Amino acid sequence: MENDVCCDVLIIGSGIAGLSAAIEAKRTAERVLVIEKLPAPGGNSLISDGGIGVVGSDLQAKHGIRDSVDLLVADMQKAGEHKNDGDLVRMVAEHSNQAYEWTKKLGVGYLDRVDFFGGHSVPRCLTPTNRSGRDIVRVLHGHAGKIGVDMMFNMEVTDIVFEDDRALKVIAHQKGKSLTYTIKQSLVIASGGFGSDKEMIEKYDTRFAKLDSTNLPSAKGDMLRIMDKLGAQLIDMEEIQCGPWASPDENGFGIGPLFADYIALPYGILIDPEKGTRFVNERADRKIVTEAMLGMPYALAVADRAMVDDCGWDLSKLLNKGIVRTFDDVDAIAETYKMDKETLRETIDVYNKRFNDKKDDAYKKDLEGLSPLETPPFYVMKTVPKVHHTMGGIKIDTHARVIKEDGHHFKNIRAAGECAGGVHGGSRLGSMAIMDCLVMGRIAGGTL
Ligand SMILES: Cc1cc2nc3c(=O)[nH]c(=O)nc-3n(C[C@H](O)[C@H](O)[C@H](O)COP(=O)(O)OP(=O)(O)OC[C@H]3O[C@@H](n4cnc5c(N)ncnc54)[C@H](O)[C@@H]3O)c2cc1C
Repeated sequence: MENDVCCDVLIIGSGIAGLSAAIEAKRTAERVLVIEKLPAPGGNSLISDGGIGVVGSDLQAKHGIRDSVDLLVADMQKAGEHKNDGDLVRMVAEHSNQAYEWTKKLGVGYLDRVDFFGGHSVPRCLTPTNRSGRDIVRVLHGHAGKIGVDMMFNMEVTDIVFEDDRALKVIAHQKGKSLTYTIKQSLVIASGGFGSDKEMIEKYDTRFAKLDSTNLPSAKGDMLRIMDKLGAQLIDMEEIQCGPWASPDENGFGIGPLFADYIALPYGILIDPEKGTRFVNERADRKIVTEAMLGMPYALAVADRAMVDDCGWDLSKLLNKGIVRTFDDVDAIAETYKMDKETLRETIDVYNKRFNDKKDDAYKKDLEGLSPLETPPFYVMKTVPKVHHTMGGIKIDTHARVIKEDGHHFKNIRAAGECAGGVHGGSRLGSMAIMDCLVMGRIAGGTL
């Protein structure tokens, strides 16, 4: 080895989970080091929308939204098909407001709005001022630097040396150079998910092997492979989430989700272009909507002017790029996407009539607080599922300690964020991933 560096706490990954852990660790540890394989901090956290699901926030109170920890726990477990670890879910839900307040105190600003995402019972999502995870990463990274957390970039961890269930050293590579880091106290793994790891996606869910991903190309499962080899339990690896609101007309996450995820799915409808009909409860969680879309070339996400105006998001970029198109009437939509005009008209009529008839929606969608689709122009976007989040990963307990195959935990290794499994079970709710990173990241960085 060309070099050997000593630190008290070593953190692998500089996303929101890793940075939260680093800040907490620095309260008690002298030398805290974050190792990041990319040239800059943030990972997927940086390119995310930064939306956080919070129970009992000042903004929920201001907007008159009644909520409770129990309700969020129930929503997360329902979406997760009760595969979630109930203690972890409660830990995240109970500490969500505290974590939000922590980010505010450090300097993150939030928009004065509370958004609804499929699968939640009430609006909970708070959005940073620039609608980007960059807002949170920038503040956490800046603060970590200020309090003396060291960070190494372009440095990839390739192995961990263990003895007696304790991580002793981490081996990393930078530009072909091998370095060894000796860990005096603890190791935190915050290496993110594997949403761009084609090999792993194919291994765990062949249905998604050919789908595009919303993740950075660097979102690979290398650290999971290393931890698996060293005897950590990996759980729920087959639980891979697709975002059913991405545009096939752009690569990766793009800008389409601002319309499809924030407006059309919560307030409008989805149409199967081959039949001209609805096919799912558009407000259901992502897993249900994705599964209903598999096999279609794409679905059409439709909203009207009133919905777009009410939501108040600026769609000019999406309209200029042709990701979202507007139509003066339903026939024009049918013509453009080659659907039978009468069928499409009837689909929308039947949907709108439910608001007067107060009859059950065919897909059991709760229409409370929604309105008919009737105010032109109509806004339409082609939407397809893209691999978005990997719920599975390293098994942890509520102290974020990594659990081994034999059920005991390693002595000084914790994990948090998307690399850890258990919080979200079979499907994670929108805006709960970053909250998971904040809460479990802070716990992982706490005293070991
Ligand atoms: C486009 C997009 C939008 C999203 N929007 C939202 C949202 O609005 N709300 C929400 O709750 N969730 C959202 N999510 C999900 C959420 O952003 C992620 O789950 C979360 O940010 C993951 O954070 P993390 O800290 O666990 O991992 P990351 O932020 O991915 O950080 C992990 C870091 O570890 C580094 N790393 C990995 N392996 C190694 C190694 N061997 N050596 C050194 N470094 C390594 C990576 O390079 C990366 O920088 C979104 C995801 C995407 C992709």
